[in-house]
Formats: sequence, structure tokens, C-alpha cells
Amino acid sequence: MSKTGIVYLVGAGPGEPKLSTLRARELIEQCNVLVYDNLANPELRKWAASDCLQIDVGKSPGRHTLDQRDIEKVLVEHAKQGKIVVRLKGGDPFVFGRCAEEMLALDVAGVSYEVVPGVTAALACAGYAGLPLSHRDCGSTISFLTGHEDLSKESLHVDFSKFAKIGGTLCIYMGISKLEEIVQKLLAGGISPDVPTAIVSNGTLPNQKKVVTTLNKIVKSANKADLQAPAIVFVGNAIGRTGQKGNWFESRPLFGKRFVLTRPTAQVSKLKKKLQDLGGEVLEIPLIKILPAEDKKLIAEIFAGIATYEWAVFTSANGAREFMRLFFLAFGDIRSFGPMRIACVGEGTAEVFRKYSLEVELIPEASTAENLAKDLVATNSLDSANVLIVTGNRNREILVQMLEDIGHAIVDTLPIYETDFTDIKNAADFKKFLKVGADGIIFTSSSTALSYVEQEEDLVFEDGAMVPIHCSFGPETSKTLRENELEVNLECDSPSIDQMVLKLVDYFS
Ligand code: SAH
Repeated sequence: MSKTGIVYLVGAGPGEPKLSTLRARELIEQCNVLVYDNLANPELRKWAASDCLQIDVGKSPGRHTLDQRDIEKVLVEHAKQGKIVVRLKGGDPFVFGRCAEEMLALDVAGVSYEVVPGVTAALACAGYAGLPLSHRDCGSTISFLTGHEDLSKESLHVDFSKFAKIGGTLCIYMGISKLEEIVQKLLAGGISPDVPTAIVSNGTLPNQKKVVTTLNKIVKSANKADLQAPAIVFVGNAIGRTGQKGNWFESRPLFGKRFVLTRPTAQVSKLKKKLQDLGGEVLEIPLIKILPAEDKKLIAEIFAGIATYEWAVFTSANGAREFMRLFFLAFGDIRSFGPMRIACVGEGTAEVFRKYSLEVELIPEASTAENLAKDLVATNSLDSANVLIVTGNRNREILVQMLEDIGHAIVDTLPIYETDFTDIKNAADFKKFLKVGADGIIFTSSSTALSYVEQEEDLVFEDGAMVPIHCSFGPETSKTLRENELEVNLECDSPSIDQMVLKLVDYFS
């Protein structure tokens, strides 16, 4: 048996990555070669393995990166080398996607293929713009048409006047550049000038725009709203039957707002999800990285004497996680944790211990090292007590000083990780940030703020980019921002993801 690979013709969905199928994700993760064009959201390509060869064959009006025949050659060549090839196509591969030609080329070359359907733009745009495509009373057919079925063709191919007679709902792909002509032809075909007509551009994406009006007004409205491709034109009475919440997507409180998250990528997921669920767009520009600081001798000493500590104090979730990782490496059994009491700077840190059913006895109301120290002193349990502080390489002095000087504790510190600045230029979203800017940048800690300041020289925004407001996770971070002459536009009382989200919604709505 020859070792020919396989080509998967995969629908990428309309834009929003979460509208792609599980099958699409699975295949992108597995493939050796990923062939894509510009309608497939770049986010999907992040799912590919690091050694996956990614080939851009994208076409945009007036610019052909690769000719259709060349694309087919690329697919055949790689499959013949035994590779698993994913050909990613915007929306559904069988809807105006030239998939038939690619299948034929694969057949001729004797290469196997499978097809993975995707959510086509018409359905996605209708859903995300709240425009029903069918209605019991007035829309019992739905037609998918194309303004020009080949981007290089100048004139209209479809006889729009005939579709004027069929009625129902018309979903016109690639119609925006020929809008005036299409409207003329529909009117000439006898369709009512008052029929509800809408255009949705960049559907399902953070820059989705829509215009809903009537056929005779659509050209003017589209020009006024400066709608750009990709866009779908909808014509038909059903789309006028939108409910009150029809605008659900664009009316979410953070819709159209772009935020920069500055923590290491592995730690942003909760905030990222919350912002995205409220309609916000997220750029990830990690400004710090967390490195384990393993002083093996010190760790061994501390674990050897673990039973002697009355309190273990944790100043960050990172530190807590790293401590537990090392603890299990050393002991392998939770019972060795001993009777020491646990104090944590905040809820996020406490969560790490609750997972092991370990009780956290102290969390200060406001999550700062100073409050943590004050509350510990207030327990009156520190005098001559052995206290272990597990922390990073920043902001620990105040804690040690207060526990020793005021509480008279005997303090051991375990610097368990180091916070270092990243090189901002390496962030995947950095170029986009300089190009378009953002509405807000969220500083989660003093170190993210310091890293930002340090890299100011590389932060040269392009003309027209939005300069972000500075959002601070708490007073300590704000202090660092102000000390470095950066304005604080929005601040949480104490570090909390939920509070940050509420403050952002408040600020931007
Ligand atoms: N196979 C694709 C269509 C490819 S043709 C699918 O099934 O969706 C390209 C056209 O699709 C664009 O000109 C535009 O009309 C439409 N389109 C694709 N993505 C879109 C989006 N996010 N918003 C609006 N229209 C989109």
C-alpha cells in the first residue's frame, strides 16, 4: 500500500472561533500541513501543532496569493508525501468555496479526502444579527446567491430579477461591491422597494456591523455606515420579523471594545472568557513570565522542618501552586502537610489549597501583602512562632518586616518562583496592538506595570491606533503606575477578576 496522505476539506466557520466544529479543531490539532486563506480566523491556526507547516493561499479582491490550480497542486503534493493535510475554508467548504474543483483535482491525483462542513456565513450572520431567515407567514424559501461567483469576474452572473419573483429570503454572498446593481435588478424584477433589507459585515466578529432598512434605502445606508467586505446582504420579509432582543450580539456591554491582558498566557483564561462573553475582544500581551526559582537546598531544608511551622503564608496563586507541586514531589502524600495553618493573600490563592481540602484560615479583605500582615498580627498567634512565607521575588519585604517587627514571629522565606519581564515584541498579538491599539490595558500587578514602562520604546503605535486607558487591579499596582507617570483611569479596590469586569462594564457602558 502506498503511503499517500489525506486531505481534509474543512469548514472553518464564519469568523468566531467557537463556531467551528469539534471535528475541525481535532483535525487542525492533528494535521501536518494546514492550507488556509484569509477568511479563516487566524485564531484557529493557533490550534495547530508547533511543527505543522502552515501555507497561506489566501485571496482577497484584486490580490491573488495563489491561483486555484496552484492551490490544488499544493494539496496533492503534500498528500502524496504521506502528509495529513487540512484545507481550511471560511464558512462551509461547499458554499461558494470552489471545493468541487479541489475534490476533482484530488480524485484525478488519486488522493483520498474527507469533507467537514462548517457554519456558513449566511446562517451565522443572520443568527448574530438577530435576523430570522424564515417565518411561517412570510418566508418559506431561503436562497443563497452570490454577487459574483468568482472574485475576478466583473459582471453579475446571477439573474437577480428572477429571484425577485421567487421572493422568500435572499442571502447574497459577495454582494457588497455590486450592491447598487443588485438592488436595481431586484427592483426591475418587481420586488417591493419596501422589502426589509439588511447587510451584516464581519459577522460574528468583534467588529461586526449591521444595517437594517428597506431595499430602496440600503445603498445609502450601507455607504453611510461604511460597510466593508466580507458582508452578506439579506433581502426578504422574514428578516423584518426580528424580536426585541434581535440585536443581542452587538448590544452586549463590552461589544466592540478591545482589551489587552498582560499576565502570562496560562493565567489569563478566566478574565479572557468573561470579557469575551460580554462582547469584548482580547489581545494577549504577556508582560511578565513566571520562572520556578528552585533553590534545592533551601527547599529540602524547609520541607524537612515542615512540621515546625505554625503558619504558612502565601502571597500568590503561582507560589501556592508551585509549593504544592514541590510538596508532592517531596512527600507524595497530603498527610505530610502537618498541622500548619494557612494564610493566603486572596481568594485565587486560597482556591489552590481548597482543591486538596486544606482549610485556609486567613484571607484579608483587601488582597495586599500589607493587609495580610496586619490580619496575621491581629491573630495574636505570631509571638515566637515559626512562620513560613512562600512568595516570589517581588514585594515580600513588607510582609517579612511586619511579621518580624510587629508580630515577633520567626520568619523563613521560601522564594519559590521569580517574576521576570518578557520581551513585549514576542507576544503573538503585539503587531495588532501597535496597529489598532486597544480601549484598555489591564495591569494585574506592579510587575506588569513596570514591565510596560520598561518597554516604552517598543510601544510606538501606528497612526489611528487607539491609545488604551490604564486599568489597575488594585492600589499597589496603581501606585506603581503613578510613580512611573502613567495615569490610572480605572482601579479595583483589591485584586479581583469579577470586580475588574464590573468596573470595565461600568466605564464603557
Ligand atoms: N464558504 C464561505 C463563503 C465564501 S465566499 C461560507 O460558507 O461562508 C466569501 C463571502 O462569504 C464573502 O464575500 C461574504 O459575502 C461572506 N462572508 C464570509 N465570512 C463572512 C462574515 N464573517 N461576515 C459576513 N460575510 C461573510
